[in-house]
Amino acid sequence: MSSSIYLDHAATTPLAPEVVQAMAPYLESAYGNPSSIHRYGKKARRALEEARTTVAQCLGANADELVFTSGGTEADNLAVLGVTRALLEKPETSAKRHLITTAIEHSAVAKPFAYLEKTQGYRVTYLGVDAEGIVSLEDVRSALSEETVLVSVMHANNEIGSIQPIEAIGELLRQHGILFHSDAVQTAGKLPLDVNKLNVDYLSLSAHKLYGPKGVGALYVRRRSLAPVPLIFGGGQESGFRSGTENVAGCVGFAEALKLACASMAEESDRLRALQRYFIDGVLEKVPSAVLNGPSDLSKRVPGNVNFSFPPGEGEALVLQLDLKGVAASTGSACKSTSIAPSPIVLATGKPEPIAQASVRFSMGHHTTREMLDEVVETLYSLMVRYREKMPLV
Ligand code: PLP
Repeated sequence: MSSSIYLDHAATTPLAPEVVQAMAPYLESAYGNPSSIHRYGKKARRALEEARTTVAQCLGANADELVFTSGGTEADNLAVLGVTRALLEKPETSAKRHLITTAIEHSAVAKPFAYLEKTQGYRVTYLGVDAEGIVSLEDVRSALSEETVLVSVMHANNEIGSIQPIEAIGELLRQHGILFHSDAVQTAGKLPLDVNKLNVDYLSLSAHKLYGPKGVGALYVRRRSLAPVPLIFGGGQESGFRSGTENVAGCVGFAEALKLACASMAEESDRLRALQRYFIDGVLEKVPSAVLNGPSDLSKRVPGNVNFSFPPGEGEALVLQLDLKGVAASTGSACKSTSIAPSPIVLATGKPEPIAQASVRFSMGHHTTREMLDEVVETLYSLMVRYREKMPLV
């Protein structure tokens, strides 16, 4: 293995050169505080509002429907905790305590729900998924009750890439007047996102998954839907939804990254889907014991995501072995990369524990080529031969 191969774009991406260029002035000369009323402040304010308009346009939203946050995690927390707090403040919903989410959410959604369940007296339904990791509309329908006030279903799963039927779920919930949040952190810039087609009230985004900077994201809040109660109080920035001096350079970089991703989306997703197919076929041919996690129909999968289990290997050990060979992959959510538990996502698809323990996510990006994937397939093959021979991995 000569080179270093990065196949962890679902964890994070490098900054696109255009993004670095767009951000630079706001890190160097145009460093004003957007709340200041002098020319420095005005310049920063203009850049911030232009960034908001750009992000909104990419989503089919209005600029005043976007709250910039410190990333996907904060956007998810603001949606789940902020909206439930707002519901408690309304007399007609204050007594209703049923929430619905899925068993495959990222911890940035799952943990706020667990908190509400454990400490705030909510009943939470965690919807299961099918063998490909997809929630069924019928399950959402049957889980609804008179008490249901908020539903959160991610647009696509971060480990196995399964795309959820957000449009249909949103339509159903709208008929029942129930608020709907979706975490689109893994799909923004990869799949078309139109908040009106998706029928969502709230949508979470993060810049660093789409060649933008870390530490910036946004929550879309539909104008006519219930506004969340802020989680962070202070100077009233972001229309009071998120106090704190705005990360101007970050927001400018986010907007540039999303604009670039939207402009090349069709072409790039075709390229990534071809690479996905090539890699899946290559792995299955060379390592027939490998088990594909998530949809095999690539139209149901985020472009660039591949997730395999390699029994009897153990996910973490394989990721470390791959790293020694110059290949960066992941066991799933980067936030959990120190734990050795089986993947709850793979378990949720009905696979047994040894398979859920052996899962590795490969996520491709702008610079991924067939040649790189050939090298990775060869590396996996040699690692699996060692496993079979029960040789120590060195
Ligand atoms: N939601 C999903 C689906 C994710 O994959 C991630 C990041 O891994 C997050 C939320 C958190 O986003 P951020 O890293 O911007 O806080």
